[in-house]
Amino acid sequence: MNIGIMGGTFNPIHHGHMILSEFIREELSLDRIIFIPTGNPPHKDRRQVLDGQIRKEMIDLAIESNKKFFLSTIEIDRNGISYTIDTLRELKSIYPKDQLYMIIGADSLLELHTWKDFERLISITSFIVCNRYGSENQEVIRRINDLNHRYGGNIIGIETPIIDISSTNIRQRVKKNLSIKYLVSESVEEYISKNKLYK
Ligand code: ATP
Ligand code: MG
Repeated sequence: MNIGIMGGTFNPIHHGHMILSEFIREELSLDRIIFIPTGNPPHKDRRQVLDGQIRKEMIDLAIESNKKFFLSTIEIDRNGISYTIDTLRELKSIYPKDQLYMIIGADSLLELHTWKDFERLISITSFIVCNRYGSENQEVIRRINDLNHRYGGNIIGIETPIIDISSTNIRQRVKKNLSIKYLVSESVEEYISKNKLYK
């Protein structure tokens, strides 16, 4: 199988994540996309990032209608912060014969050098980079070429539609009692409202 891995905080999952995942899945003929929410950050940041169980439930609701979208709780099930390199090792042992592609936004690409063991990570994983509002195209292309050249990476930039949605903006909108309709799925919108999240 060709598998896309979509990691993130998903606080909450929004239509940007979903539109891009479906776009990449089709573009690269991936058999499935696995969403992997991050574990709970220790102490200080906890107030801003909702509990893993809650973020997981929102992903479940959001991806319910797509048979090719899956959820993995491997990071939530570990305690504290997980590093992508460790998650990837675990995934490779679960899917030894499959091709894995990490899907990231351009903003994440520009931060990649801060990730644990990033040189090794780049050399053992294929990355798919999506455009993101605010990240300059030329800079992204330069960075992709540079990382591929320096570390023997297989980072592929894909022309994706720019979808200016972020979880940060959604949290701010909820706090100000503004509508988040069409930014998240109806089920997630209802879940946020019913559980009075981000207030
Ligand atoms: P926050 O504002 O809390 O950081 P976010 O909207 O960036 O939330 P994350 O959970 O941080 O969402 O994102 C997970 C992954 O999806 C990251 O690689 C990020 O770059 C990518 N991503 C999220 N939203 C978009 C978007 N609208 N366009 C392109 N990539 C996106
Ligand atoms: Mg983000």
